[in-house]
Parts: sequence; structure tokens; C-alpha cells
Amino acid sequence: MIVGEYTMDIYDLIVIGAGPGGYVAAVHGARLGMNVALIEKEYVGGLCLNWGCIPSKILLKKGAVIEAARTMIEKGEIQGIIHPLFESIIAESRERVEAIREGLESLITSNAVHLLYGDATFTDNKTISVTLRDGNIKRLEAKEGIIIATGSRARILPSLIPVDREKIITSKEALMLTTLPKRLIIIGGGVTGCEMASFFRSLGSIVTILEQKEVLLPNIADEEIIKTLTRGFKERGIEVICNAAIVRCGAEGNETIVATHEKELRADYVLSAVGITPNTDHLGLEHTDVALQNGFIPVHPNTYETNVSGIYAIGDIIALPDRIHPPMAHVASAEGEIAAEYIARKKSSWIINYDCVPSVIFTNPEIGSVGLSESRAKELYKEAIDVQRVRDSWMGIGIALKQTGLTKIIREQRHKSIVGAHIIGAYATERIHACAVAMRAEETTPTMSKQIMAHPTYSESIREALLAFDGKAVHVPFMHQKRAQ
Ligand SMILES: Cc1cc2nc3c(=O)[nH]c(=O)nc-3n(C[C@H](O)[C@H](O)[C@H](O)COP(=O)(O)OP(=O)(O)OC[C@H]3O[C@@H](n4cnc5c(N)ncnc54)[C@H](O)[C@@H]3O)c2cc1C
Repeated sequence: MIVGEYTMDIYDLIVIGAGPGGYVAAVHGARLGMNVALIEKEYVGGLCLNWGCIPSKILLKKGAVIEAARTMIEKGEIQGIIHPLFESIIAESRERVEAIREGLESLITSNAVHLLYGDATFTDNKTISVTLRDGNIKRLEAKEGIIIATGSRARILPSLIPVDREKIITSKEALMLTTLPKRLIIIGGGVTGCEMASFFRSLGSIVTILEQKEVLLPNIADEEIIKTLTRGFKERGIEVICNAAIVRCGAEGNETIVATHEKELRADYVLSAVGITPNTDHLGLEHTDVALQNGFIPVHPNTYETNVSGIYAIGDIIALPDRIHPPMAHVASAEGEIAAEYIARKKSSWIINYDCVPSVIFTNPEIGSVGLSESRAKELYKEAIDVQRVRDSWMGIGIALKQTGLTKIIREQRHKSIVGAHIIGAYATERIHACAVAMRAEETTPTMSKQIMAHPTYSESIREALLAFDGKAVHVPFMHQKRAQ
């Protein structure tokens, strides 16, 4: 169709942003029979693939191997000196990202999704203008729906932490550094701050985390898990300073300086990890009727439709009623599936139960959680909860490999259903899924304890914790089981 000087391309569904939310929505929509355009201004895979989940996990896994080798040297089991080649490690992670990007691009296009590289802005509630990479402009119209999946970027607090992307950086630059920081100050002890601290420490940097709240991972993890992580970090030589109010931060020559009320710290880099900002500011939303709430887009919690019929939003940019939306890749993808189904069929066969969404932190030690923390469960269930804990050091594999770790399961007393599970230690990011599945299936702890786990695995601790609710766990000291009766 030709409109004035522009051609107007008409699609059933237009998706803006090809991160884990947008590309899954686009492919799902195409498989449901819709004619789909997916617009991406930078790289397919979004923050997750290019500067988030994937590169950070490559680096963290490599860091964990280096640290394990160092421990074996200390124990006299390996001879030699570990000398990590930081630049090669970073280069390899960038190569893997590019390889996945290529595969993803062909996944998208082989599903007949029309992938357009360009910057999308709304012109009204139904039309989008795309400034393509070659400077040309394309106009697109959506017959059935538009999904906004433009994600987020690191939050910048310029008057407090003047990020210059050279010495005062965010996680994006940290994942592409070419020299290993000798000293690194991380401002913000949330998930990104803790993961970055864990990686750089494993390569040998001297790391300090400054967190303004009382604890690391505030409102993110269970209190006992936070204590275990903090202790583990300190044992690894990571300095953790909580209740830290920053009064000054800046670069001076080759150094950076951060001052709190109590002390002044110097390092070669400062990494600012103080949260996220939704990418809703350059989208032309002012040409639509889409409502915003502190920059985020409020949506219906089951359909992801915004206040404007036919415009949906998913992933890091959304705000849910009555709960904080978890900014995680797997959540964005699931929301993308559902939104695409609503646009194609006006219904979906499922809704996300946000209480059962697992969250994982790839620090050393790893953390996996699902559901309520102990303090939140006590509040919600008015103390009518039971808690069971199993230490890895009580279990065969934990003793064999000298691992410390904790599995903690919380159930409500009336139905004996799990309302929270928290694991810290080896493979916690994998182990947690058994608990998430049980929670989603609304299984009681006696029923779930009938599922045996393979030996010798760390997952055995989950069954032991379930059995301990009824005083039946063979490897849990009896006094710990009785206390929960
Ligand atoms: C260091 C780090 C580690 C992380 N690790 C994990 C992890 O282990 N597990 C996990 O679940 N989550 C992790 N996350 C969070 C995860 O990356 C995000 O939750 C996820 O990427 C959000 O997906 P999304 O689809 O909403 O948006 P994004 O991944 O941000 O994708 C949005 C896309 O939209 C594009 N876009 C924006 N505006 C426009 C426009 N106007 N026109 C066209 N395109 C546009 C962007 O270029 C981008 O590609 C991590 C984040 C960071 C920073």
C-alpha cells in the first residue's frame, strides 16, 4: 500500500525488539499462522544474548573453573601456576555470542518472520515508522496487534555515579574489558553486582561491593541464603560494605575514587550496577494512548495487553498490578508466547504463575530460588509455616567433594504445600527446578517426597528436606527434624 511518499507494509503482528521476549513472540506468532515483522535496532538476542545472561555466564563458568584449579594447587593436587589470559577469555565469550546470534537470526528468518534491522517508533496506535540501518524509512501497519519488547538498560544516576563507560562503567562495558581490573569497586549488591563481583574475584581482581541497603541481594533472596552468600564472598576475599551511602564518585587520571560517609576507596574501575531503566523513552509512545508508570508499561497480568486495545508489552519494560515484575529472560519469553497467542486467537491455554517462577544467580556459590522467602512466608501465612534445612555437608556427595551449601524448603501448614524453596551451593541453579515443578503442580511435601532422586547427586538434599518435615530423613540430624514438627 502507498501512503503519501511512503509505502505502508501491512502485517498481522509487529514486534518491536528481538530480545528473548520479542523473538520468541515473533516466532510463536508466525507458527500460529500470522504474518509477522520483527524490528531490532541493534542485535538479535537483545540484552540477554549480547550483554547479559549469556556472556556473563560464559565468564562466570570459566572463572569457577579457574578458581577450582587454584584450590587444587593450594591442596597440592596440581602443580603449577594459574595465569588466566583475560583478553582471550573475553574474546572467546564474544565469539560464542556471535555464533549464537547467527543461529538465532536463522531461527527467526526460517520461521518466516520478516526481520527488519532499524529503530522503531510509533506514529499512532496502529502504525510504526522504522528508520532502517541504511537511513531509509519504512512504515508498517499492524492488522491484529503490536508487541512492545524493547527491554531495559543499566540505570544511570549521573549526579552520583558519573558513568563515562571507560573507567566508570556498567556491566555492558565490564563484559568487554580488555584488561583485568587490579582493583574493582562495584556499586550495587543486586544480582548483576554480585555476579560481576564473583567473576572478577575468580580471575584475581581485588573487589569491593558497596550496597546502600543493609544486606546484599535486598528483597531478592531469602535472608539465610544472603547470609551464606555474604560469608562465602568474604571467605573468597570479596569486601562487602553494606549501608554504604556514596557521597562522591569520580575518575582522577588512571584511578577512580568512591567516597562513602565512612571511607574513601580507590580502584582502577568502578562498576555501576544500580538497577535497570526501561527502554520506553525513545519509542514515540507520546503518539499513542499507551499509559506509562515510572517509565514502565502497565499491562494486564494474564494477556499482557496495555491500556490500548491491540498493543501488548512484555519483558523488562512491563509493570504488573500488585507485584514487582521479575526482569528475567525466561519470564520475557513466556510472556511473549502468551501475548502472541492472545493476538492470534484471542485466548491462551495458560497463564504464568509468577509465584512459581525460578530465579537463579550464578555467583560462586550459586543460588536458585522459587516462591517466598521465610520472612515473607511468615508474614503471609501468619507464622503457620514449617521450614526444613539440609546442608550439603550432611549428604554423600557434599561430604565427598567437601562442599558447603544449603537447601531450604518452606511449606504452609494447612495443605503442606511448598511456598518457597531456596538453594545455595553447587548446581543450585539447576536443582531449584525440581522445587519449581512441584510448586506449579501444587504437590504436597509428603507426595513430593515419594519422588526419589539419583545418588550421588546434590538433588538428594531436596528429598531429604521434604522427608524431614515428617521426621523421616535419614541423613538429617534428628534434632533438626524434630524442631520443625
Ligand atoms: C549482566 C546481566 C546478566 C543477566 N543475567 C541473566 C540471567 O542469567 N538470567 C536471566 O533470566 N536474566 C538475566 N539478565 C536479565 C535479562 O538479560 C533480561 O531480563 C532480558 O534480556 C529481558 O528481555 P527483553 O526481551 O525484555 O529485552 P532485551 O533483552 O533488553 O531486548 C530488547 C531489544 O529491543 C531492542 N530495541 C529497543 N528499542 C528499540 C526500538 N525502538 N526499535 C527496535 N528495537 C529496539 C534492543 O536493541 C534489544 O535488542 C541479565 C542482565 C544483565 C545486565
